Amino acid sequence: MSSTSRTRWLFAGQLGPVFDDGGPIMIVEARSVFGRRPMHRAKAHLILSALRHRAAELGDRVEYHRVERYSEVVTGRDDLEVIDPTSWSARRFVRRHGMAVLPSRGFVTSEPEFAEWAAGRQGSRLLLDDFYRTVRRRTGLLMRGDQPEGGRWNYDHDNRQPPPKNAARLGLPDPWWPEEDEIDAEVRDDLDRWQREGAVELVGDDGPRRFAATHDEATRALEDFIGSRLNDFGPFEDAMLGGDWTMAHSLLSAPLNLGLLDPLEVAERVVAEYHAGRAPLAGVEGFVRQLVGWRDYVWHLYWHLGETYPARSDYLGAHEPLPEAFRTLDPSMIEATCLRETVDGMRRHGWAHHIQRLMVLGNWALQHGYDPVALNDWFVDMFVDGTPWVMPANVIGMSQHADGGIVATKPYASGGAYINRMSDYCGACVFDPKVRLGENACPFTAGYWAFLDRVEPRIRGNQRMAQPLAGLRGLADRKAVVDQERHRERW
Ligand SMILES: Cc1cc2nc3c(=O)[nH]c(=O)nc-3n(C[C@H](O)[C@H](O)[C@H](O)COP(=O)(O)OP(=O)(O)OC[C@H]3O[C@@H](n4cnc5c(N)ncnc54)[C@H](O)[C@@H]3O)c2cc1C
Ligand code: SF4
Repeated sequence: MSSTSRTRWLFAGQLGPVFDDGGPIMIVEARSVFGRRPMHRAKAHLILSALRHRAAELGDRVEYHRVERYSEVVTGRDDLEVIDPTSWSARRFVRRHGMAVLPSRGFVTSEPEFAEWAAGRQGSRLLLDDFYRTVRRRTGLLMRGDQPEGGRWNYDHDNRQPPPKNAARLGLPDPWWPEEDEIDAEVRDDLDRWQREGAVELVGDDGPRRFAATHDEATRALEDFIGSRLNDFGPFEDAMLGGDWTMAHSLLSAPLNLGLLDPLEVAERVVAEYHAGRAPLAGVEGFVRQLVGWRDYVWHLYWHLGETYPARSDYLGAHEPLPEAFRTLDPSMIEATCLRETVDGMRRHGWAHHIQRLMVLGNWALQHGYDPVALNDWFVDMFVDGTPWVMPANVIGMSQHADGGIVATKPYASGGAYINRMSDYCGACVFDPKVRLGENACPFTAGYWAFLDRVEPRIRGNQRMAQPLAGLRGLADRKAVVDQERHRERW
């Protein structure tokens, strides 16, 4: 059977033009997918909206099914093909049902290209920086011959500044927001009904849809980013302001992960702004590194590290359950301004920017020994852009150091001083980032020392932790701080 005479089943991560070769299409909306675990309402809405918008665009070319389970539609069919889907379980499912499987798409580096690169490392660590340089050379992005544009591969030194002093916002125009239509209205009604019927458990606010659900919307969002935020992306990539939930970020991860945009095209579009003299090299390089470096790297590590990578990663012996404030996204249970504002943003939008994910949520979870697998699932379920493939390297590896150093060479733990430098949160907080003992001791600062105290036996041999551990040993009040954090009730 030729490829075009087969019906191509498109998954929720495959909804853009890159996944369509012109033949018949099938899209399946299986309600059980939304009911496996509690899910952010904004995420459920976005996925359903994107599936239904794609079906509307494809018109007669699509068969659209609304069912409880995928198996109701695919069992017994021998005319289906898929582009290799994006999770271990989906890959198993399509193979079990005998579908024709085409190579995956939607990333800059193909799976064979990554395998070849990884094999060439001959057992040494698979470093993001090495991978990124290989991708730059192969694609020619920001290259002058075989040299990086401007002479350096990485401009982080010029990026990643603190937020402007005394500013409540970066002062950029509001991002472009999609306009909801009758498809969104129907999605909203369905989700209300599913919740009433007990088929799904939705968490977070039912706000207006903020993320692109179609290729056209995603293109608008990209152009809006380029027109109004790209120039500030680099400098404020790691900055946080309580009054500015988007900062200068692109807001493109959700449409990218839905397959609505091709990452290489996005990178080329952004690089063109640099070549046209309209965007600075440092910020453009930073953005390109996130997109063709990090995004692809975590995708390939998902397959390379294997399905059991999360379960076998218990390096720091973290087994605490997630607290109710996390599970229910209830900021009223939290006093620490940085954490409360971040959880509040998540409740409203199902999204937080990178440094809130890594240095507020992830840092907090690391310090408190939350179970990495439960945390991984929570990130997948509570973020509009959460997917099974994006999370393990980011959460298990980078943020929780549960793999003992495969993804990151040291734990991303820090005290309140970092958050204070990179945000305006601390000024409005009941805690003081400089204080580690007493009523107003910052839970991040004191938590940092208590964390080091707990994991010291595990990380003693890590050279990059030698200095922090020397600091720990020099703490006159170490025992009191550890004791305080063990019994902490207010945070
Ligand atoms: C603990 C943790 C959880 C995360 N969860 C997700 C997630 O669920 N989904 C997701 O797509 N990204 C996730 N990331 C990566 C990153 O935080 C988000 O991609 C980014 O914040 C999304 O916002 P944006 O589109 O405005 O990104 P920008 O800041 O504008 O960055 C541009 C693009 O680069 C890509 N990117 C940047 N960093 C990463 C990364 N570390 N991994 C993968 N892609 C990256 C994204 O596609 C993003 O759209 C996570 C990172 C951490 C540390
Ligand atoms: S003082 Fe501590 S808890 Fe409060 S905002 Fe700053 S870092 Fe967060």
